[in-house]
Amino acid sequence: MDPLPGLAHVPTPLEPADRLGRAIGFEPGALFVKRDDCTGLAGGGNKARKLAYLCADAMAQGCDTLLTGGGRQSNHVRMTAAAANKLGLDCTVVISSRPPATPTGNVVLDLLLRPDIVWAGELDYYGLEAVIEEEAVRLATEGKRPYRMPIGGASTVGAMGYVAAADELLGDLPDLGLVVVADGSGGTHAGLVAGLGDHAKVLGVDVGTRPDLDMQVPAKAAAIAEACGRPAPIGDVQIDRGRYGAGYGATTDECREALGLAAATEGLVLDPVYTGKAMAGLIAARREGRVAPDTRTVFVHTGGMPALFAHAYADWIANP
Ligand SMILES: *Cc1c(COP(=O)(O)O)cnc(C)c1O
Repeated sequence: MDPLPGLAHVPTPLEPADRLGRAIGFEPGALFVKRDDCTGLAGGGNKARKLAYLCADAMAQGCDTLLTGGGRQSNHVRMTAAAANKLGLDCTVVISSRPPATPTGNVVLDLLLRPDIVWAGELDYYGLEAVIEEEAVRLATEGKRPYRMPIGGASTVGAMGYVAAADELLGDLPDLGLVVVADGSGGTHAGLVAGLGDHAKVLGVDVGTRPDLDMQVPAKAAAIAEACGRPAPIGDVQIDRGRYGAGYGATTDECREALGLAAATEGLVLDPVYTGKAMAGLIAARREGRVAPDTRTVFVHTGGMPALFAHAYADWIANP
């Protein structure tokens, strides 16, 4: 399947990050940042590459409504709403929260983009998926043709976007040794593995959304590789499960350190939920010697900046 052209700004830049590299113990020329925060769609992030494939699939199926869901500060919800507007499609999003008294962060952008929002109240992962399914049925009874995407766009079709990203990386850096990425659903990680062909080349950092990543990532990587006609990936899945603190979205001191270092050395803004924790995982891997100082390492910046402007995180930044 081909992605819908023009939806995601790709290829994204691969930037050397020697100042950050030096601060965390890499040799010059070893550390790079893949700027997938610069993909467009109302602020950018990794969901743009997924949406380019998902929306192509939706159009091919003759669907007229994009349907998905997420948490209150979901980047995927915000970017799906932007994609729908850009394509002239309707959009329904289920948000697992009550409407906030004062919108902040991604919610401000959601209100501006105006998808049909279903405020579903506090729900866990599977509870939210169930309401998305209910909405699909409701929309169909109303005569709409919804295209249902799982939370985070985490389907095989969506993850194909990261096979293409892996090809971009190999084009820019043929001797790359390791890619480090945040793991929410694990779809981005799995797509990268499918593209690079080897689990040893990708370190995922669990941000605490789901307990079964150790199973999910290899299963998804194999399915994506097969769907793209690539060889089955070799090696063992690599996931750092020690960085999410008290849970998804919880603040940690090492995340704060990672945000501060990236900002001070590279002018690079990470987010408190995903990329800050992924960077904390990279810092720990280098400090503990699990990554050598001369390993050509790419940190994938998957976006997420709007969450920084949610009240809780703004206060956390302001009051260390
Ligand atoms: C969704 C998201 C991720 C996680 O991507 P998955 O493919 O679900 O693992 C990482 N970073 C940001 C900023 C995201 O919005």
